This record gives sequence, C-alpha cells and structure tokens, in this order.
Amino acid sequence: MANLNSDSSSSSNSFNLRTYKTSEEIKVPEKIIDQIIGQEEAVETIKKAAKQRRNVLLIGEPGIGKSMLAKGMAELLPPEELQDILVYPNIEDNHNPLIGTMPAGEGKKIVANYKAKAKSQEERKNMFTMIIISFILIVGFVVNQFFMALIAAAIVFVALLQIKPRTTVMIPKLLVSNENNITAPFIDATGAHAGALLGDVRHDPYQSGGLGTPAHERVEAGMIHKASKGVLYVDEIGTMHMKTQQELLTAMQEKKYSITGQSETSSGAMVRSQAVPCDFVLVASGNLKVLEGMHIALRSRIRGYGYEVFMKDSMPDTPENRDKLVQFVAQEVEKDGRIPHFSREAVAEIIREAQRRAGKKDTLTLRLRDLGGLVRAAGDIAKGEGAEHVTLEHVLGAKKLARTLEQQIADRYIGQKKQYETFASEGGKIGTVNGLAIIGDRSGIILPIVAEAAPAQSKSEGKIIATGKLGEIAKEAVQNVSALIKKHTGTDISSYDIHIQFLQSYEGVEGDSASVSVATAVISSLENIPVDQSVALTGSLSVRGDVLPVGGVTGKIEAAAESGIKKVLIPKSNMNDVLIEERYRNKIEIIPVENMSEVLEHALLGKDKKGLLDRMQKITNMVPNIGLQNPTT
Ligand code: ADP
Repeated sequence: MANLNSDSSSSSNSFNLRTYKTSEEIKVPEKIIDQIIGQEEAVETIKKAAKQRRNVLLIGEPGIGKSMLAKGMAELLPPEELQDILVYPNIEDNHNPLIGTMPAGEGKKIVANYKAKAKSQEERKNMFTMIIISFILIVGFVVNQFFMALIAAAIVFVALLQIKPRTTVMIPKLLVSNENNITAPFIDATGAHAGALLGDVRHDPYQSGGLGTPAHERVEAGMIHKASKGVLYVDEIGTMHMKTQQELLTAMQEKKYSITGQSETSSGAMVRSQAVPCDFVLVASGNLKVLEGMHIALRSRIRGYGYEVFMKDSMPDTPENRDKLVQFVAQEVEKDGRIPHFSREAVAEIIREAQRRAGKKDTLTLRLRDLGGLVRAAGDIAKGEGAEHVTLEHVLGAKKLARTLEQQIADRYIGQKKQYETFASEGGKIGTVNGLAIIGDRSGIILPIVAEAAPAQSKSEGKIIATGKLGEIAKEAVQNVSALIKKHTGTDISSYDIHIQFLQSYEGVEGDSASVSVATAVISSLENIPVDQSVALTGSLSVRGDVLPVGGVTGKIEAAAESGIKKVLIPKSNMNDVLIEERYRNKIEIIPVENMSEVLEHALLGKDKKGLLDRMQKITNMVPNIGLQNPTT
C-alpha cells in the first residue's frame, strides 16, 4: 500500500498511477537519474561510480538511455569543486603559454582586471604620444620649419605604434569557465575529432614580425578540459581514432593535458601550453561490436578503475513496469514542451505498442528513444487538431503516419511486388513458397522462395545451387532438411540437383527464419505437389523436423495480411509473441505449427497431398530415428 503521507515522488506517483485521467497528473522526477526507466542496475552502478568518481562503460542498443545515464551522473557529481582555467602569455617563452586555475567565477574577474589595467596603460601611452607630437610641432613652428616638423611627427607616431605590443599589458584568456554552473559539466564528445577533444592552437599567418595574435590567445580548450570535474561522454567509442583513444587514456591517467596545435603544418603546432587540468570521469558507450574497435589499454583502464554495464533492451511486462511507462509518457510530454498531455487510453496504447515492439511475450521494449518518437508524433497530430489531450485515435493515427524508414521500404516493397506479381496470394504453384522475413528490427516483408529439383547431372551426387545473398542460408537449410526429406518422403535428395532462388530479395533481409519455407519449396518441387499461395510461412527447422521459434512474428504476420495472404503458419512456441494491430485481426488466420508434417498439411494443395502425407506417416512410424543421422552426408 502506498504511504499517502510520504512526500517521496515514487509513492505519490504510485497513488496517481492507479487513478490518473491524463498524464498531466503524473509527477515527473526532477533529477535525470530518476527519470531513467527500466535500467535499475545501470542506475545503481552510475550512482556508485559518481560517488567514487569512477569511469563507466555502457554497452547496449541505441536509444535505451546511455547518454541519459551519463547526464544523470554529471548531476550527481559535487559542483563545489568546479574551477575556471586561464591561459597567460609566457614572456620568457612565447610558445609555452602558462596556465592558471581558480575557483569557478573568479576567471572572469581576473580577465576584467587585466583589461582595465591594459586600458589605463593604453590611455597613458596615447597621452605620451600626443605630448611628444605636439612638442615636435611647436618646436617646428617656433624655428619656422613646420613642414620638417610634420614629417618628424609622423615618423615618431609610426615608431610608437611599432613598439605597442611590447609595452601593452597582455590580457590572459579565459579557457574554461564554470561561472554560474550549478551542476558538474556534462560534455558529449561523441564523434569529436582530435582538436575538439584534446584542445588546439589556432594557426597564425602573421606569427613573425610581432604583428600576429599572441600564442596564448590562440589556445583553445578541448572537451577533456571543459569536462574537468564533470563527465566526458563518448558514444560509439570504438569508432574513435586509435591514436586519439591513446591520448584520451593519457589524459585520464595524468588528469592534465597540454594543449598544442593538432595540425603539424600549422604554426599552432609550435605552441605547447603548460599542462591544463582535465580531471574528468569518462562514460564511454556503444554496442557490443564497438568493443572490437576500442583501445585495449583504455578498456582495461575502465575495467580496472571503473565499471562495465550491459544494458537491457526490454523489461518484463509487470504492472510496476507499465507504471514506469506511464511516467515515461509524462516525461516525454514535458520534455517536448509543445505537445498536450495524454489521456489514459492514449497511454494504454503506447504501452501496447511497447509490448508489440518488444517482440517477445510478456515483455516491454526499452528502446525508448523510438517510443518517444511515437509519443511526439501522436502529440503533433493532437496539437494540429487543437485537441486538449492526446487521445487513443491520435496514437493510432501516429502509428500509421510515423513509420520507420524500414517500414516505409517494406510498404513500398509489398506494393511493388503486388504490381509486378512477384508473388501470388491465391491458387497453387509447385516449388513456390511465400516466405516471411524481417528488415530493420521489426518490419515484415514477403520473401518469395522458388525451388526447382531436377535429376542430378553428376552421377555421384546432386548439387544444391542457391544464388543471391541468402544462398548460404538456403544451402544450409536444404542440407539440414535432407535427412528429414529422406525420412519423411523416402526421396533421396542427393540424386537431384536442387536450385533455390529468393526472388528480389531486398538488401538487409534477415533470412535465418526461412528454413521451413525452403524445405516446403523443395519438398513441393521434388514431389510435384503445388503450394497454396494464399499461405505464408515462417519458422526455423531442426534436423528432427521440429519447427523452432523465430523473431519478428508480429511484423511478419502484418506484412502477410497487408499483401492479401489469408493464412500464416508460425511456430507454435511463438504464439504468445503475436501482438498484431486490431485492423489485421479479421484479415488473416494464424495457424501454429509444431513440425514439418503440420506445415505440409496446411501449405500443400491438390490430390497428391494426401498420398504424400500418408506416406510420410507410414515411413515415420516405421523408422523413427533416421532423422538423427548426419544430414550433410
Ligand atoms: P542512447 O544514448 O542509449 O542512444 P539516449 O539516452 O540518448 O539513448 O536516449 C534518447 C532519448 O530516449 C532520451 O532523451 C529519452 O527521452 C528516451 N529514453 C531512452 N532510454 C530511456 C530510459 N531508459 N528511460 C527514460 N527515457 C529514455
């Protein structure tokens, strides 16, 4: 039971969450770290790391809250340690500017002092110049040589201009300012080149002859310096140049790093400042692949002096976690600032979408950046209509409108295939199967597969010929099912050449769930029995003939329905993952299948089908274990 007297945000929210009418009533936590949903372990680690100022490596999919965690960490670091950093000219060695640090806010005052001093010196000098020139002119006037005096005055004037740099007070430059900062800095250095990251010294074309900009004024702070006492965040750390990663490591270890010109051909490369403080905490992130491009020493530094976290991309579908998504909707609305709050029904649809996108039963997605996109799209529609709140209809409208690039490609692909009749959605065809595949992370498409079996040309053995990018998958699928085909149909495929083609397969198609479809096409072709074209299938086949679960069933079924397919066969173990949109429900029949016999039962047509199935039944009963032999021999 929630404690109603407590003022903690979570308990007051849990009260609201059960009764709320719109997301406006949900209290959004102030701190970023409390706004992070579903990543409890990562949040705990970040809190611990902030306390001890440790580095953190966050590994996970995009859009699940990695940069949010890094920002949240910056908020947790103590702000009282913040400093300003100044760079001063070095009179003795112009190419080695000096560095000074002081408490935050002091830097600006010091620069102002120097400016005032320089100004008064300038005024004094101007006065001096005026007096000398006046004196020369008066003398010239008195001795009646005014013309000569004018020339002398001009020469003196130019001479005084020339000695200006040596006599002027040199004003230091404020390199890093933390004035008015109430939290420790958070600097996102993702994709930064060496100069931006490590600091740089600008080129000066007039460096010689005293006309140029003094070296210290050309020194620019790097992100590592701006992040001092705060968080330096680098996403996709593995794509950073090795040399830059090495320098980053040096900076981390030393906690200070001299600034020099990064371009060797620039005059800036001659300048090297005193070491500049860069006492930052590194939060690096990326997906698992990124680790491959990560400097080994940098990784081991984090492992040794910090934490590594593998983040989640989904969470269990529990009432508590649904409540968190309610909070998420409220947060996204407030963050956006321009869209209206959501009605209870609209929030419920967002939660339903989170179930659908998870693609697994009893699971909610944590790819919240994308889900936030849906929240904003629905909000935009509501706003366009001048609605007070976002309603269920707005969310449904947004789902149609805000389709991802992959979904749009899938839509167009289905349209095109219909137009060119690459696949049929009625009648029967021998050796042709409507497979189903996924592009992107969850957009389904029809993947027509055609198989043709002909007696082997070589006497010793038949060949499996599969073309296209999915060829390898097809070959493997056929090899895996060869024993099965022999077992089930009595046909030895090694006396056939089998050609398999994926028609117009689109770049990026994941075909590993096509083995049931490939096997069906091959059996249809070997046995000369047509495949029902109003059926589409997906499933992975074991060498024993069991149909194993695959990913993306919801997207696949929706694509089939969209293409006019009437029946779809999916692995029985995937049935709980089906969360298709309401509008497809009456359009398509979903049939769960457990083994190859059931697949053929539903997918084949015509009078010969019964004979095959009977034969399969008989053979299977007679020799129950043949399927276990090595399928590739
Ligand atoms: P990543 O760095 O993992 O790619 P971000 O932290 O940049 O993802 O997340 C982008 C946006 O998505 C955030 O600003 C926030 O609106 C939303 N978001 C992502 N993950 C979460 C989360 N775990 N909790 C709350 N909001 C999230």
